[in-house]
Amino acid sequence: MGRPLVFEPRLLTDMFETTVRRHGSRPAIDFMGRITRYDELGAMVDKAAAGLQALGVTKGTRVALCLPNIIYYPVLYFATLKAGGIVVNVNPLYVERELCHLLEDSGAEIIATCDIPDIYGRVSHVAEKLGLRHVISCPVAGALPTIKGLAYLLLKRAMIAAPGPSPRHLTFAQMMKRGGALAPISARSDDVAVLQYTGGTTGSPKAAMLSHANLVANADAMVIHTGGEEMIGEERILGVLPLFHVFALTTVLSFAIRVGAEMILLPRFELDQVLKTIARSKPTYFPAVPTIYNAIAGVAEARKVDLSAIKACISGGAPLPAEVRVAFENTTGGKLVEGYGLSEASPIITCNPLIGENKGGSAGIPFPGTIIEIRDRDNPDRLMPPGEVGEICARGPQVMSGYWNKPSESEQVFIHGALRTGDVGYLDEDGYLFIVDRIKDVILCGGYNVYPRMIEEALYEHPAVAEAVVIGIPDPYRGQSPKAFVKLAADHHATPEELRAFLQDKVSKIELPREVEIRESLPKTLIGKLSKKELVEEELAKAAAT
Ligand code: AMP
Repeated sequence: MGRPLVFEPRLLTDMFETTVRRHGSRPAIDFMGRITRYDELGAMVDKAAAGLQALGVTKGTRVALCLPNIIYYPVLYFATLKAGGIVVNVNPLYVERELCHLLEDSGAEIIATCDIPDIYGRVSHVAEKLGLRHVISCPVAGALPTIKGLAYLLLKRAMIAAPGPSPRHLTFAQMMKRGGALAPISARSDDVAVLQYTGGTTGSPKAAMLSHANLVANADAMVIHTGGEEMIGEERILGVLPLFHVFALTTVLSFAIRVGAEMILLPRFELDQVLKTIARSKPTYFPAVPTIYNAIAGVAEARKVDLSAIKACISGGAPLPAEVRVAFENTTGGKLVEGYGLSEASPIITCNPLIGENKGGSAGIPFPGTIIEIRDRDNPDRLMPPGEVGEICARGPQVMSGYWNKPSESEQVFIHGALRTGDVGYLDEDGYLFIVDRIKDVILCGGYNVYPRMIEEALYEHPAVAEAVVIGIPDPYRGQSPKAFVKLAADHHATPEELRAFLQDKVSKIELPREVEIRESLPKTLIGKLSKKELVEEELAKAAAT
């Protein structure tokens, strides 16, 4: 199913420059109330690009960006591309081992980070160990009122660039001063623009190679999906998700640049701050992950926030439990639509319509230009008819060409040219996609496939359940059996026995969790998706010890 469309392959930098020319006097970024216009952003990008070239960035140089949401991220993103480089997105909260892997695997030569002492310390340590050429520090700490103190002052002193062995440390301002005239670069729309690290379908970290054309196509498709060109120059997009994550990279950064919108950037998710920002800045789009909408739905203050300017809150990155959608819409009066995607597809491949039928529990219809195929898991040559479950595969201009330096994994991730998502689901008769689960999360219980998501959805129906995660634990008779972990909603009470009893008539006998454990908090990934990995590891260690 899908609507084939022709997308004009373009450079991200051309998309950026078109907007700077057309919307120069419009606000591009609102960071804690400080506004930067598109013409100012354009000038900063040019200067930073020349600065990067002076540091040796040329065609194909990998530049790692390890930054929270602050103006330096968009500046260095487009500057890297303009200088001919490739952006390597790095999460500033990565521990040294993860940082080392990403920088080594990508072959990054330069890393731009911020002057928050903990982050800067970790990044410089790894950069020194690997012998990177330069570490650029952006002045973030001063803009965030919570970061003060001696550690910061000592760090500021240490960061003054000094000639010496690799890596050379320099501040953003020093890098800007280095540049002369920008040397032209011959770039093609199929050049790699971004290396986006993901666990992918197998869990081992690898980088999806996203080209300029891939990323522009997903932004173009967003324009079509959200209603066409006429809204250009009128939108305000709330950027609370980190821009280094592929979902925000497209739904906030690329989309904003594509339509000349204002990006309202927040350096991290703080509920209070988000509600205040919505009240002050009246965003028209608010993309986020389900845990953020869940947190908003759970506080009384959210009822007072005026969401009337928001055309859509776009949920992605993880399944949106139907209960969370309803609770969010009831509390805020806003419209929450679910989309679905993955790093390998820049990322969006389906989304519910903003106007028209929004089917509960569905991840929506194929994004413009995207074709979704459901393939038999045992015989992937066979396409499944509507209503039947199989592996979700996708074709479209946003799909990557492969993984960086991983030829065999790249080959395996495609079937007859379609991207294998590693997720299982089905299309209904109207072409809406329903995601059943991730292949790697399916619990093999006594020969049956048990889909944890079905059990999680049932748990969310209980009023005391705020968050739920179900994993497979070792079972001597059945191989694996389901176990549920639950975080209770504030001011609610329920025992594991009550929750098991609640599930009795909602799931089949084989799906009924052998155990339910209640926890104060559940592990989340660094962008706030509920994470199963830690819980699986804990349970495996427990089983090995008995
Ligand atoms: P990543 O590329 O690391 O951001 O992860 C992409 C994965 O997130 C997909 O393969 C899905 O398993 C999951 N995902 C994203 N959006 C949804 C959704 N709406 N419903 C269910 N799973 C989702």
